[in-house]
Amino acid sequence: MPEKPRVYVTRRIPEIGITLLREHFDVRVWDSDDVVPREILLEELKEADGVLALLTERFDGPTMDAAPKLKVIANMAVGFDNIDVAAATERGIVVCNTPGVLTDTTADFAWTLLMAAARRVVEGYKYVQEGKWKTWGPLLLLGQDVHHATLGLIGLGRIGSAVAQRAKGFSMRVLYYDAIRRQDLEQSLGIEYAPLEQVLREADFISLHVPLTPETRHLINAERLRIMKKTAVLVNTARGPVVDQKALYEALRDGVIWAAALDVTDPEPIPMDDPLLKLDNCLIVPHIASASFKTRDAMAALAARNIIAVLSGQQPETPVNPEVWERRRK
Ligand code: NAP
Repeated sequence: MPEKPRVYVTRRIPEIGITLLREHFDVRVWDSDDVVPREILLEELKEADGVLALLTERFDGPTMDAAPKLKVIANMAVGFDNIDVAAATERGIVVCNTPGVLTDTTADFAWTLLMAAARRVVEGYKYVQEGKWKTWGPLLLLGQDVHHATLGLIGLGRIGSAVAQRAKGFSMRVLYYDAIRRQDLEQSLGIEYAPLEQVLREADFISLHVPLTPETRHLINAERLRIMKKTAVLVNTARGPVVDQKALYEALRDGVIWAAALDVTDPEPIPMDDPLLKLDNCLIVPHIASASFKTRDAMAALAARNIIAVLSGQQPETPVNPEVWERRRK
């Protein structure tokens, strides 16, 4: 019997992903909740036909050169800024991601952060925990109203649109900026397009939903933070480097904007001596926007199905560089 293709899974993931892969392949797993050490990853890649990867592993040209049999990298994430897609395409490696299955869960979480920051939920929790709650206070922990405020979305793709949809319930005005104007969505979601600077100037809440690319790195910098309202709340569930974090610290410290809520930081994890951690008006959580039981199962299953498809000569559901699969098919 011919040997089964080898698939390497770079972390402990929801069981459904492993079960699907085991039906077809010789599966090896970095059976840990920590990042796989680079030398172990490189060793495993020597024999791997496919890899189920996470955003914590960097796949550049030299990494792919250490993997002579590799045909597919299936990222268990919609973002793929950890992978040099051009290098993969050059080497005939299909790259896949997990779009769609995490859209609503991530949009829900952008709202969780927005509301928590606006109404100072974590500060309130700490206040109670620290035994400071003595009485109802007319001036205690005042926040920003969400209802009838203006929401500014940067990036109106899948997640940005889902965030916009949820704003209806709060009677908000929604402005968006995107590389491409989406008149169909303007109609159906009742939202308005505006140039980036105008969105930043007019929004009470700014939520980031662009991928991390050379163009979006430090999209939110000191100059753009200064354009925002002094009462503005910035929410980042996109990628840490979309925001210049040093500039954000200074803006939050100096009252240039009112608050920020970050699911993602630069770097990750945020170092414990980062000054942002000392600010009460900066809420930081550990990159958990897609972290619901159902969605993580769906992400693991989709990543597994993508590997199964590529290694059995079928079209994967969500390729990032479909031209590689097309080329191989011919
Ligand atoms: P998407 O559907 O591709 O949406 C991204 C949108 O941003 C697209 O409309 C895109 O336009 C636009 N865009 C790209 N470059 C831009 C630029 N330079 N200026 C303005 N707009 C630009 O992706 P998605 O599924 O909504 O996900 C968005 C991002 O969220 C992902 O890339 C990922 O990094 C992040 N994310 C984070 C988490 C988390 O756990 N925190 C979870 C899920 C996703 P085009 O289509 O024209 O390129």
